[in-house]
Amino acid sequence: MLHIAPRLNRIKPSPSSMAGQRARELRATGRDILSLTAGEPDFETPAHIKEAAIRAMAAGQTRYTDVGGTPALKEAIAGKFLGENGLAYASNEIIVGTGAKQVIFNALMCTVAAGDEVIVPAPYWVSYPDIALLAGGVPVCVDCPAAMGFKLQPADLDRAITGRTRWLMLNSPNNPSGATYTRAELAALAEVLRRHPHVWILTDDIYEHLIYGDAEFATMAQVAPDLKDRTLTVNGVSKAYAMTGWRIGYGAGPSALIKAMVKLQSQSTSGPNSIAQAAAVAALTGPQESIAANRREYAQRRDTVVAALNAIDGIECAVPDGAFYVFASCSALFGLRTPQGVAIQTCDDWVMHLLDAQNLAALQGSAYGVPTHFRLSFAASTEQLLEGCRRVARGRDELSGPVIHQEPQ
Ligand code: PLP
Repeated sequence: MLHIAPRLNRIKPSPSSMAGQRARELRATGRDILSLTAGEPDFETPAHIKEAAIRAMAAGQTRYTDVGGTPALKEAIAGKFLGENGLAYASNEIIVGTGAKQVIFNALMCTVAAGDEVIVPAPYWVSYPDIALLAGGVPVCVDCPAAMGFKLQPADLDRAITGRTRWLMLNSPNNPSGATYTRAELAALAEVLRRHPHVWILTDDIYEHLIYGDAEFATMAQVAPDLKDRTLTVNGVSKAYAMTGWRIGYGAGPSALIKAMVKLQSQSTSGPNSIAQAAAVAALTGPQESIAANRREYAQRRDTVVAALNAIDGIECAVPDGAFYVFASCSALFGLRTPQGVAIQTCDDWVMHLLDAQNLAALQGSAYGVPTHFRLSFAASTEQLLEGCRRVARGRDELSGPVIHQEPQ
């Protein structure tokens, strides 16, 4: 009999991966499924990056690399941090991993012991609580209401910190809400963190370049340099350069933490893919035009989706400052019924109704710690997005109500 270790029972499969898989399965049965669940750019990796990978292969860069990343890529990462964020990191303060996800995984696995707490502002990227749980820790989710722009408030942070707190997870721009912290907002959180020197900060900046309008990107180590010696700044090439499948992410922080993470990585993947690392060097040091071009396109799509959704009775969404998701409220629909008489009581019911009745795959806010909302990705063509919004509108129009609760006779 197969024996699954108890640690695995603490976690669930990634809801976004599962939703994508379910959409593919339903499509294979002949249904016209439109999936707006993707957490990845729909653009191609720029040609000069692919060419760098081909050159690396031809030059024989096909062997194991240093566990924590090639010297060339670490140098490119150091250059990126200095040039874009004003942050100086030495080579032993940088690790390259198989995606930002592995970097985050390494960090928590190396530092979180049984019962240690990890503060996760909600809405959160689905993996933070599960990685904390896998490490034996306790995710402490702190609600960041829509009325506060889905951002962590300093007083709420202060209240959530205990003697067992190891990490604060910060993600800006945020998946799923797009919330993007200003310098002043980060400085206010830093004020609280100064009073709690045992708390480390993991900032997940993977959506740094997907930022719209007047919003400006800032990261904690830059805003509060005195906290740099307890901050791990995580980033990667997946979203900025449309390179999700290449699996390259990186982190920068104090050398003792990086050393521990490299040790762990030496016993898991042995290091990231050599060819993808060469491609990431080209991404970080080569032409950057694709970033601005993609950003312009995303900004238009964002405005299209937000306007279309807000025109639907009962759906409400704010304009996200960053990332490529809209996070819309569906709570006004709770209590209504489908034509089959099924009551919509949760965001899960609403998302299931969209899939069943309209062949539209979306993600339920409960997966992100906010059960009143649902997430649509706008990393899709404008035609797909408009069709998606039409399906949401039709799904809404099918509902009627309110629910009449009949007392049992
Ligand atoms: N962090 C956030 C907030 C994300 O949304 C994602 C991917 O969806 C990642 C990290 C993972 O990035 P990578 O592809 O580099 O592992």
